[in-house]
Amino acid sequence: MTDYDLSQTLSRRLTVLGSTGSIGVSTLSVVAHARATYGADAIPLEALTAQSNVDVLAAQAREYRPRRAVIGRPELLGKLKELLDGTGIEVAAGKDAVTEAAAMPAEVVMVAIVGAAGLPPALAAVRRGATLALANKECVVAAGELFRRTLDGSRATVIPVDSEHNAAFQVLDFAQSHAIEKVTLTASGGPFREWTRERMESVTPEQAVAHPNWSMGAKISVDSATLMNKGLELIEAHFLFALPAEKLDVIVHPQSAVHCLVSYADGSVLAHLSAPDMRTPIAHALAWPRRITSPSQRLDLAALGRLTFENPDRTRFPCLALAEACLRTGGLTPTILNAANEVAVEAFLDRRIAFYDIPRVVEATLSADGSNRAEAEDLEAVLAVDKRARDVAGALCRKLAA
Ligand code: NAD
Ligand code: MG
Repeated sequence: MTDYDLSQTLSRRLTVLGSTGSIGVSTLSVVAHARATYGADAIPLEALTAQSNVDVLAAQAREYRPRRAVIGRPELLGKLKELLDGTGIEVAAGKDAVTEAAAMPAEVVMVAIVGAAGLPPALAAVRRGATLALANKECVVAAGELFRRTLDGSRATVIPVDSEHNAAFQVLDFAQSHAIEKVTLTASGGPFREWTRERMESVTPEQAVAHPNWSMGAKISVDSATLMNKGLELIEAHFLFALPAEKLDVIVHPQSAVHCLVSYADGSVLAHLSAPDMRTPIAHALAWPRRITSPSQRLDLAALGRLTFENPDRTRFPCLALAEACLRTGGLTPTILNAANEVAVEAFLDRRIAFYDIPRVVEATLSADGSNRAEAEDLEAVLAVDKRARDVAGALCRKLAA
């Protein structure tokens, strides 16, 4: 095989968990581009899964021909069967069926489910030694040590898809890890970067999800508006790259051209740049250690003119400070932080609580259970802490909504 023979890379089977979401749809567009470029049999699909959008899932299955299509909501199985009748594509439904899809023998699994719900399927893929293209950051934050231990005890490989971590993965010199002084994640600053706190008190879900640079699912868009996303990403980087809190940093960079900077002991700083288009890290993760062509936008620095950087404001964006405190405290505090945030963001999107109630709910949930410095023994222990935090946060949201 020559250096340019991609046949082995392109023959690996792919499962997409969360195929109907923002990352899932972008992943399939990278597959479509690869098939148009390299041949119709490039990147064969093993399984596609989605939670409730059965029409989109069925349309994707008809177009991309996976072996199996799985819908999370059990009551939608009949509809899925009907929509895929005569195609020969297997169908299944329910939470366990999503995890079983991750356990099917695909070499590569794109984990693009949102929230800690992605944890059991991600661990199933890790345990059988798959290559994970990991977009779902909440599962790393929620299960931290457990995720790391399971990964270390397996033959699995994780290629981060979250743009900053994918960037870090590309510029980190893992053989010289002793010489890494700092890894700096960039943050766009979100839609409220220049807003006063008073103005932000009354932001609506529509304003919060209107991100200036990236088009993403609703949950991560709100997280980007509160800067909780960057806090979760610091914790994600800590576990993925085994870096202590002191070596992790955040800088606001509104143009989203530079995604990560790695500073070395000799003063060198290696940065990764690309247009803000998730199809670039997705294509990288699907092809690693090779590279394939992707349909993503190309970076035009002259058109951008200049790149600017500033420090984040932790007073207007308290979620970042809360996440940083959990990163330093460790134990199960990131599990609690993540669960409380998922509940609060959902309540905000449902208009039950206000924008600044998100950090209020997270902080109050942490102080109700925040002394939990123990490490989780197993998945059940993580899920129990996650559930307890969701109950506390849910009760707080009801109180705020009353
Ligand atoms: P999304 O809401 O657009 O899509 C989520 C997908 O997960 C959908 O296919 C949905 O059907 C499925 N899903 C939802 N709840 C589920 C459940 N309980 N069980 C099983 N499946 C479920 O989200 P997204 O923006 O594509 O983000 C997906 C993940 O990738 C998130 O963890 C996010 O933080 C991360 N990420 C996203 C982006 C982005 O640009 N969108 C960038 C970096 C990281
Ligand atoms: Mg990111």
